[in-house]
Amino acid sequence: MNTLFISDLHLSAERPEITRLFLEFLRNEAVQADALYILGDLFEVWIGDDASVPEHRAVIEGLRHLVDSGTPVYVMHGNRDFLMAKGFEEASGCRIIADPTIIDLHGESTLLMHGDTLCTDDIEYQHFRTQVRDSARQQQFLSLPPQQRTAIAMDYRTQSREKSSQKAQEIMDVNLQTVENTLREHGVTRLIHGHTHRPATHEITVDGKTAQRVVLGDWYHQGSALTCDAAGCRLAPYTVEP
Ligand code: MN
Repeated sequence: MNTLFISDLHLSAERPEITRLFLEFLRNEAVQADALYILGDLFEVWIGDDASVPEHRAVIEGLRHLVDSGTPVYVMHGNRDFLMAKGFEEASGCRIIADPTIIDLHGESTLLMHGDTLCTDDIEYQHFRTQVRDSARQQQFLSLPPQQRTAIAMDYRTQSREKSSQKAQEIMDVNLQTVENTLREHGVTRLIHGHTHRPATHEITVDGKTAQRVVLGDWYHQGSALTCDAAGCRLAPYTVEP
């Protein structure tokens, strides 16, 4: 039996083929797994559990079906869908987990994160993150009519794209010192995260011990999944032959 990890699907009406690929993944790969972990940015935008978004409906039904058929699904907030809450859990059957979370993965303590908090060189983003994660500010946002919330979310997205295009690539990657400190602080030698869209398995040394940092891939032109079992973890693209 195996455990699956995915992240950064950024599901939206703009890329219906990726939504279809994900639904396919749920029906075929995930149904055979012990558990599915989605480590952030499942959705491109989530403006609140109360806003009914037609393109999200099939995704929520697909998740519900998977959970009902016996595969638990754990979802972590990303920087785009951090307003998912109880209503999402009830509709989908998924459980929201904290960032970070430590799990026992086939006998090895493993730290799970979305990854944005590791990008400490991007001071402007970290400042923005602190602002939008403020609970009073979130309540205020959630009290606005859905149309207004969508407009604000779209505006944030445009700004974020403009800022990202002006920043050096290294600034938007994880800070290696932050990674080391995080592994040390949690006493683990394995970290799985997403966010940077740079799928890879990195071997690093922390206090003389070998540690592993697995970066999940995004779902833009194809899918990507990490499969872990007693023998280890394998990161591979996910596609469906036409
Ligand atoms: Mn992200």
